[in-house]
Amino acid sequence: MLHKKYIREAAYYNTLGDRRVQCTLCPHMCIIPEGRRGLCGVRENIGGKLHTLNYALVSSLAIDPIEKKPLFHFYPEAPIISISTVGCNFKCPWCQNWSISQVGPEDLYYHDYIPPEEMRDRIRKYGVPFLAFTYNEPIIWYEYMLDVAKLVKKDGVKVVLVTNGHINLEPLDELIPYIDAVNVDVKAFNPNTYTRYIKGKLEGVLQATKELKDRGIHVETTYLVIPDLNDSVDEFRKMVKWHIDALGDETPLHISRFFPYYKFIDKIPTPIDKLEELWKVAREEGILYAYVGNLPGHRGENTYCPSCGKPVIKRIGFEIISWKLNDENRCKYCDHRIAITGHRWRGRSIWI
Ligand code: SF4
Repeated sequence: MLHKKYIREAAYYNTLGDRRVQCTLCPHMCIIPEGRRGLCGVRENIGGKLHTLNYALVSSLAIDPIEKKPLFHFYPEAPIISISTVGCNFKCPWCQNWSISQVGPEDLYYHDYIPPEEMRDRIRKYGVPFLAFTYNEPIIWYEYMLDVAKLVKKDGVKVVLVTNGHINLEPLDELIPYIDAVNVDVKAFNPNTYTRYIKGKLEGVLQATKELKDRGIHVETTYLVIPDLNDSVDEFRKMVKWHIDALGDETPLHISRFFPYYKFIDKIPTPIDKLEELWKVAREEGILYAYVGNLPGHRGENTYCPSCGKPVIKRIGFEIISWKLNDENRCKYCDHRIAITGHRWRGRSIWI
């Protein structure tokens, strides 16, 4: 049985008749009778009020390179504290982190209770001024995320979300002042794929991602290329055109290799020539910083100067092996400014 310390009244919902409630946090807008949970499995109608069941319930905590989020243009090489909870408002059958995203709060073998003040103190102790809500979908522990973000922002911590972008505009509006960067997974560019496989709404994702960009948040996107599901050039080209229109040609796009997981264990990994084909399409259409992901050592991991074409940041996996930018993030060969938020991270801590 779940301890009451994890249960808090939810921030966004309406009460309906018959003690039913409607959650207004994400575009699912679940209508939930008393005693039942929403699609994410972590919001329950208790006594006619909606409650979140995973407040401060931490399933994982690690320090990652920021490139792993992936964020290639936000304080490169910074270490980032990465935390997650349990549940998800999507049902992707290929989920890499299904053991925490597709289970309920009672099902976890291991978890920790870390209230916001303790999380802030741990971040101070670790001396790492970057925090990511990641691994599972952060939107579904919205109340905790907001409380932690408000607290650590006072210490100058940069707050990052690695998200599916499936959130309504009103809660997003309240969150935006406390976050600095996001990576949004655009999982397909076909509403039917979202409906059939993911159980989500593409339109909601696109709307929230554009809102984040318009409001000045650092945005990068990821497109996981799954064979025979979302890998047609036609669909990908449409996504790229939206990306340029809505987010601009300087917003990085990570074109990632799929590996079989969860219910898609019988699928093949994305063929390398398919990744290269889509990488070429992205650059031809005009995306200035398109990357190949999950393929360490590939030349598509590098940043190329949009002006002179030379590789100005070379990477292998999440590691930077060559850096040809000056302190203003300008190309050392031609002085063109590369679109990077912040600077290459050399310090370990803002407190040391
Ligand atoms: S967060 Fe989304 S999936 Fe979860 S209960 Fe609310 S509307 Fe439903």
